[in-house]
Amino acid sequence: MIFDYIIVGAGLAGSVLAERIANKLDKKVLIIEKRGHIGGNCYDHYDENGILVHKYGPHIFNTDSKEIWNYLSKFTEWYLYKHEVLGFIDGKNVPIPFNLNTLKELLPESKARELKEKLVDKFGYNVKIPILELKEVEDEDLKRLTDFIYQKIFLNYTVKQWGMKPEELDPSVTGRVPVFISNDNRYFQNSYQGMPKEGYTKIFEKMLNNKNIKILLNTDFNEVIDADFTTNKIDLFGEEFKGKVIFTGKIDEFFNYEFGELPYRSLRFEFENEDLEYFQEVGTVNYPNNYDFTRITEFKHLTGQKKHDTTIVKEYPQNYDMKIKSKEIPYYPIPKKENLELYDRYKEKTQNFDNIIFVGRLAEYRYYSMSDVIESALNIFRNDIDE
Ligand code: UDP
Repeated sequence: MIFDYIIVGAGLAGSVLAERIANKLDKKVLIIEKRGHIGGNCYDHYDENGILVHKYGPHIFNTDSKEIWNYLSKFTEWYLYKHEVLGFIDGKNVPIPFNLNTLKELLPESKARELKEKLVDKFGYNVKIPILELKEVEDEDLKRLTDFIYQKIFLNYTVKQWGMKPEELDPSVTGRVPVFISNDNRYFQNSYQGMPKEGYTKIFEKMLNNKNIKILLNTDFNEVIDADFTTNKIDLFGEEFKGKVIFTGKIDEFFNYEFGELPYRSLRFEFENEDLEYFQEVGTVNYPNNYDFTRITEFKHLTGQKKHDTTIVKEYPQNYDMKIKSKEIPYYPIPKKENLELYDRYKEKTQNFDNIIFVGRLAEYRYYSMSDVIESALNIFRNDIDE
């Protein structure tokens, strides 16, 4: 088969583009995937106890885009799950993000009422405020409250998760879970949220099940394609490739780490099966101030699966180190100024290659949600491919 496109990576970005190119344009695609399976970090499978688990950590789909929801709905039906998270704070489980219910649970009743009034007066009801913005308030009571929230919910969790304090990271990081002046305990307020009824892997299987798509698993792109940085030409199996390449791997790796490595944060997951119907009340419980893990997720809450036993996963953040097997997965780009500047240097180099498109969490070095990745891939398809 003569390929029109080579796609490096069978994760969300690569699979969405492969699907669009194969189905809409009827062009031929070769996907090169390092792992032994498709689906990237969204990959899920049944564990040895028959429980559907997410191998690379919990993924809960949420979006405000009707277009993205409809797009994914072509490949799956949905279990309309609304994610709820509790935080173990001062000996009890309270709603996260911090909201008016959390306030009531953690503070004496009259104090909570007084602070609620002050918050609503100052900001309004149903309003979200990132913790680092809330730090600017002048009112002494609200200042004390902000400090309390910062200390109990954000500081230790962030240090555990990133090895840094909230102020050392781009404000958008802690801004993902803003203080919410509301009684809504859902983790996401997006218009569309849910879990694929048969799991994420099935979505990828459907997307990629097309005669125009061939997939090479267990293959590092370096074994198959060769980019010449002086002529800007690409070889596939030693012969010049005249089509286009879509690269969804690490952008610094593509350029042989010429300007140095882009930093990432990694995770170690511990899965445990418990002989209980349910281990905890909700999908995820965060532990900002206790233990070495950040959170425990119980898959049955997410998927709605019924079973007499249950599987949970504990997330242990760790440094990323591509030379150590247990630390080699780059889960999170680290959003802070100098890292984004380093990324910009790599991005500039991509302009030399008009036959390569860089897309996705690793190639764009962005702390992307699943919806963000799909949006980026569909935009690229619309603007640069479907011409
Ligand atoms: N965060 C926190 N305490 C919490 C929940 C989140 O400090 O209880 C901060 C922390 O810095 C975290 C960030 O908010 O990395 C984003 O949280 P989110 O749940 O979106 O992280 P993800 O699910 O992407 O790992």
